[in-house]
Amino acid sequence: MKRYSAFAIAKEAFRQHTGWERAWRSPEPKARYDVVIVGAGGHGLATAYYLGKNFGITNVAVIEKGWLGGGNTGRNTTIIRSNYLQDPSAAIYEKARSLYETLSQDLNYNIMFSPRGVIMLAQTHHEVRGYQRTAHANALQGVKTEYIGPQRVKELCPIINLDGPRYPVLGGLWQERGGTARHDAVAWGYARACSDMGMDIIQQCEVTGVRSEGGRVTGVSTTKGDIACTKLGIVVAGHSGVLADMAGFRLPIESVALQALVSEPIKPCMDVVVMANTVHGYMSQSDKGEMVIGGGADGFNNYTQRGSFHHVEETVRALIETFPMISRLKMLRWWGGIVDMTGDRSPILSKTPLDGCFINCGWGTGGFKAIPGSGWGMAELMATGHSPLTEAFSLDRFKEGRFIDESVAAGVAH
Ligand SMILES: Cc1cc2nc3c(=O)[nH]c(=O)nc-3n(C[C@H](O)[C@H](O)[C@H](O)COP(=O)(O)OP(=O)(O)OC[C@H]3O[C@@H](n4cnc5c(N)ncnc54)[C@H](O)[C@@H]3O)c2cc1C
Repeated sequence: MKRYSAFAIAKEAFRQHTGWERAWRSPEPKARYDVVIVGAGGHGLATAYYLGKNFGITNVAVIEKGWLGGGNTGRNTTIIRSNYLQDPSAAIYEKARSLYETLSQDLNYNIMFSPRGVIMLAQTHHEVRGYQRTAHANALQGVKTEYIGPQRVKELCPIINLDGPRYPVLGGLWQERGGTARHDAVAWGYARACSDMGMDIIQQCEVTGVRSEGGRVTGVSTTKGDIACTKLGIVVAGHSGVLADMAGFRLPIESVALQALVSEPIKPCMDVVVMANTVHGYMSQSDKGEMVIGGGADGFNNYTQRGSFHHVEETVRALIETFPMISRLKMLRWWGGIVDMTGDRSPILSKTPLDGCFINCGWGTGGFKAIPGSGWGMAELMATGHSPLTEAFSLDRFKEGRFIDESVAAGVAH
């Protein structure tokens, strides 16, 4: 694969950009692979990438029913942070955040990681105490966060209104090295690197069945024919229940729509990410100038990849109190994705009752930030049968009552 560099751009500029190669191949599926990953979202692609990079396993196919990155990975609001409460969560999210720091160099693809800082606003006394507790927990976990007062919030984000009538800003949990990255670029960067290692990314190919013999996975049936494999990774977010059903087991997952919107582009006015969890809203400004706004998840199960009117209205109405300036903005685009929610709001990275079949799901409203760490841990689990990063997130925890309760950190927020 040709390396991207300033020199390469300059060279191509002199020959009308005729020398660029396709970023990834579009092969037809082979009859057999060592590993098949279902789902070419960020988590599936990152799993494939670290299988190759860390374990030398490259006879891998990533199978995608639509286009790669077209699921939640290309639909999210790109917030990256690792300020979770429980130790296993802090470990995997901080691993991911730290990998994001150098991911552009690692992949030779600019994922536009922008560690501009994330504030989670405390707007009730309950939240003040909750976030102070999280700051202490993060200090013990080696995650750098800080509880800050309202004046510091105002310094970091001058457009904020501290004195809202319902929910004044009382402080916030600040993670200076949290931020955003370009979501499509994360998927594209991993895809390009996987393809370069000889892996096959097969788009427009739906998995319609999971094949097994004597309790062990043997392959998948797809709209492009049967494909045999030794190990199977199911990484399909909102469709996890559907795939688990094909593999013959059940998951404690609910699929619901989560939506977001962007305003018309305006001049730079906000260089941090702000999350207001009490009112279910959060906002950042994209490089194009749009205000990126997200809200809570739908309160009913569904598979519609679109927004619903009442949620847009609720989200914007709630945020206007804290950001009065958005009342004068026009909405430009609005969309939804199907997120996979577990009861304890923590993901599942696990072996399954079907031998050789692994599952990575349950990231719910907040899995974009976890992509590199999740891929790293999932690859280790699939290659060796064990990973310290994923151990606590096994399916067994729902039988044994070992919940990893992140309902405060991840219930509605990202
Ligand atoms: C509106 C919105 C805002 C969000 N904001 C944030 C945020 O700010 N920060 C954050 O960290 N997270 C956020 N998230 C969550 C985040 O986007 C997801 O947790 C993450 O992208 C999940 O990635 P994935 O690779 O598991 O799933 P996906 O990207 O959804 O990929 C799964 C893929 O599997 C494919 N698939 C499904 N069924 C089949 C089949 N039968 N055969 C083949 N392929 C199949 C799908 O087409 C899809 O491409 C947000 C989500 C949404 C919807």
